[in-house]
Amino acid sequence: MIIARTLNELHAAREALGPLGLVPTMGALHEGHLALVAAALAAGRPVAASIFVNPTQFGPKDDFKQYPRDEAGDLAKLEGAGCALVWLPSVEVMYPPHGATQIQVNGPAVHWEGASRPGHFAGVATVVAKLFGQVRPIAAYFGEKDWQQIQVVSRMVADLHLPVRIVPVPTVREHNGLAMSSRNAYLTANEHNAAPMLHAALTRAASNIVAGLEVAKTLHQARHEVAQAGIVPDYIALVHAETLEPIATLTHPARLIAAAKLGHVRLLDNIPIG
Ligand code: AMP
Repeated sequence: MIIARTLNELHAAREALGPLGLVPTMGALHEGHLALVAAALAAGRPVAASIFVNPTQFGPKDDFKQYPRDEAGDLAKLEGAGCALVWLPSVEVMYPPHGATQIQVNGPAVHWEGASRPGHFAGVATVVAKLFGQVRPIAAYFGEKDWQQIQVVSRMVADLHLPVRIVPVPTVREHNGLAMSSRNAYLTANEHNAAPMLHAALTRAASNIVAGLEVAKTLHQARHEVAQAGIVPDYIALVHAETLEPIATLTHPARLIAAAKLGHVRLLDNIPIG
């Protein structure tokens, strides 16, 4: 496995490997990330993973400094998973002095995470565009766990005619339904027991909506169930799966999306519906 830390090292590796699949990550890798690597390998191309904790997608009150980091453990996991290349840029390599460009996606970036975390998606879109320019992958693999992020990145790729295919990969969950996340490491034992309630409430809401119960009432009930478990809901919403606009009745394609605070941890989840 080649480890590249400079653009020269990255470009030499790219030349040697030929067309690549890319798995962008912020490290602290778990089985969700490794499922992206497996999906990329299944396409039959060498796989590059990037590890970069991107400061510009964290807000001033977010956990950038505390975000879990484990470079040695991550490299061992990526090697075991069959990655050919790991791209490990520093903040200085990613954001050289005098940089003056930012990518602002509107549309699917406006609501939900976009509203709760101002600037987050501009940070994501900018770093993903940079990663695409640096690695120049044929395809890039993103987790459905961050559903809105996939729609934002797909919108950007379509709008800017970027020559990369975005491939969504289903969410990997713990046996109790909790979506795996690097941030789950911050949960206390009690919080870890409560956390699966978010997915349980989403699943129940989805079957109730499909069964014909009123959407607004069902979503209200889901928020109530989540709050009962000690989780503070930010939003639980039925949305158009691509535009992320809220919808009042079940039409297609739709997605049930949720974010909530448990202790210091922001939990994100979403499921298909209908
Ligand atoms: P992160 O390191 O959290 O920025 O995530 C890097 C990539 O892994 C993103 O495309 C995430 O959506 C994806 N990912 C994170 N957790 C999961 C999961 N539980 N299942 C599938 N993909 C995931």
